[in-house]
Amino acid sequence: MENLFQSSVDEVDRLVGLEAEEKRLLQDADAAASELIVSEFESYVERKYNPEIAGVLRRHDLLGVPIDTKYGGRGARQLVEALFLERMGQTGMGVITLADVHMCLGSLAIQDWGNEEQKGRYLPAAAKGDALFAYALTEPEAGSDPASLKTSYAKERGGFRLSGSKYLISNGSIATDMIVFARAEGSAGGVTAFLVDTKQEGFRVDMRLEEKIGLFTSDTSLVSLDGVFVPREDLLGEEGKGLSVAYSALLNGRIGIASGCLGVMEDCLNQVRERVSSRVQHGKEIGRHQLIQKHVACIESSLESCRWLVYRAAMKKDDYGRSPGDLSIRRDADRLSAVAKYASSRCAFESADRAVQCFGGFGYSIMSPVARHFLDSRVARIYEGTDEIMELKIASSILGREFEAYR
Ligand SMILES: Cc1cc2nc3c(=O)[nH]c(=O)nc-3n(C[C@H](O)[C@H](O)[C@H](O)COP(=O)(O)OP(=O)(O)OC[C@H]3O[C@@H](n4cnc5c(N)ncnc54)[C@H](O)[C@@H]3O)c2cc1C
Repeated sequence: MENLFQSSVDEVDRLVGLEAEEKRLLQDADAAASELIVSEFESYVERKYNPEIAGVLRRHDLLGVPIDTKYGGRGARQLVEALFLERMGQTGMGVITLADVHMCLGSLAIQDWGNEEQKGRYLPAAAKGDALFAYALTEPEAGSDPASLKTSYAKERGGFRLSGSKYLISNGSIATDMIVFARAEGSAGGVTAFLVDTKQEGFRVDMRLEEKIGLFTSDTSLVSLDGVFVPREDLLGEEGKGLSVAYSALLNGRIGIASGCLGVMEDCLNQVRERVSSRVQHGKEIGRHQLIQKHVACIESSLESCRWLVYRAAMKKDDYGRSPGDLSIRRDADRLSAVAKYASSRCAFESADRAVQCFGGFGYSIMSPVARHFLDSRVARIYEGTDEIMELKIASSILGREFEAYR
């Protein structure tokens, strides 16, 4: 089969230029993704998170892709990270969820918002895989509207005590550290971000949410904090400015999810091409029937139309990295990451649906990768901002802040 990922890498190299070390990283991604196929499949059959997923990424030195080399990471720019996650996405959105939360929502938030002491303490462990991050914004009563969250903190000598519940937390029961968002007890004021050690007394995994419709490769949990102590040094960013930390992490995360969706579409296209070229019905390969060709054409068109949206968002984020004070570039990056995530997640789900159709009855079994993509990719239209929230965000970025449908 033609390697669609390699052709993306070659095209980006031709247009933008990739360094030798960046190409090496992408070769490592390719090798890791080939190994992940088995662990991903086992997760599905056993319907639970398989620790071997993080193990494979660790062995290939791929848990610190965006972390600066001075902290032991691979120092990848956003465009290269997007290509890395594109390759991972071929193995499924479960793998993407683990990697995206650990790197884009976790490590990058610390790299962008942490002080030097925090970066030195957390990032080398994260890059090596000795630390694994989760990001806990959502609560049972606060999803699309995180500003209404109720988890609270009280100040005490040397730090803070956090109490509350966090719902639907990816990596929730396997993370060593969690970025937790909370507001001062009894106050309706600003939200603050904290770095929470999950081994602290009072931190509890209430439930692993295993009754999902897919995404078994990813751990999703309900966790609670009952007076968990957080030392003053583990406040992330400024007190009361936690939503800025949360939203900037989501900007990175959405590019990650969109990149993973490219991989889903690539794998659907590969799987469909192989299947419709060999399966014979009515005396010829089903790929010779015109209605099947329409599915192939639609998956390919979706993939190619999303590809440059994702790379463009990533390159805009890289521009912002070079001019961190420029708010107009930040706004563009934010808009483009929302557009990339919105379009790619819808196209990935639609492509997986078409792939299931091309596979017929076998496509309805989780033994076929396309069925797993169908079940898994649906979540990309929900987490890190639902379709509707992306639509509102994109519309107000065009119409102006005064048209924001919610605040
Ligand atoms: C598998 C999985 C993993 C997740 N991982 C994480 C994680 O690691 N960390 C984390 O913090 N969260 C995580 N989430 C939570 C996810 O981000 C939320 O589910 C999502 O933001 C939506 O919130 P909600 O589920 O409360 O839905 P709600 O906010 O209740 O929304 C329900 C519906 O109402 C719509 N809606 C809400 N407000 C508006 C509006 N103003 N206008 C129009 N429509 C609106 C929504 O778009 C949606 O269609 C995860 C979710 C899942 C399913």
